[in-house]
Amino acid sequence: MKLSDRTYKEVKDYLYTNKNLIIPVGTCEQHGPHLPLNNDTLCAEYFAEELSNATGCLVAPTINYGVNLPCDISFTGTTTISKDTLKNIITEIVDWWKKQGFENFFIITFHGDPFHIDTLCNISENVYLIEAYEIDYTGILDKQSTMRHACEAETSVALWLYPEKVRTMLMEESDIVFDDFREYLFHENCEKPDGYIGCLGYPKSASAEKGKILVEKMKDWVISEYYKAILKE
Ligand SMILES: [Zn+2]
Repeated sequence: MKLSDRTYKEVKDYLYTNKNLIIPVGTCEQHGPHLPLNNDTLCAEYFAEELSNATGCLVAPTINYGVNLPCDISFTGTTTISKDTLKNIITEIVDWWKKQGFENFFIITFHGDPFHIDTLCNISENVYLIEAYEIDYTGILDKQSTMRHACEAETSVALWLYPEKVRTMLMEESDIVFDDFREYLFHENCEKPDGYIGCLGYPKSASAEKGKILVEKMKDWVISEYYKAILKE
């Protein structure tokens, strides 16, 4: 249920019974040779819609840009905004909504850049961040124990949610262990890492079956995080 599909009178009526709003925050970021730049945006929108279906909350228009690794400038089309810009966009739109009667805001993101996450965690009171991928991956994946990037897990989710967008024939694998990637992840090194093709992990081990299991767990996680935040109120 989209906020922007409603008229202003309908939104006013919504506020008599529900003062919560879901905000999907995507990013425009390379996802290896086989996934589209809007991968994380599509996933954020999917889980926002699922949360809306489960709770009756409206979903605000998606923010399509996020904070990305500086080294990703080498991958054409990847687009970043700064932490301050991301914070300002969300602070300004939330301020309007608060004046209109909205009280609680639930940001859904699927993008794990540490500065993106840090920014979204610290917008203001009553703005909650739900990282949709923060589930336990035990027993689901064959070659990874957690989410990496354009990897076994992320590609499985894509194969389940939008298989038509996955360029299966173009998949390549080139892993860099976490410790070697750390300086790039924390924006300390802006060069492209040696041998980096844009994915970390093992996309060739991905499957729609694993994706189905992951998506169900992520959906349950997103909904439980929502209720955890609401109960704190
Ligand atoms: Zn991603």
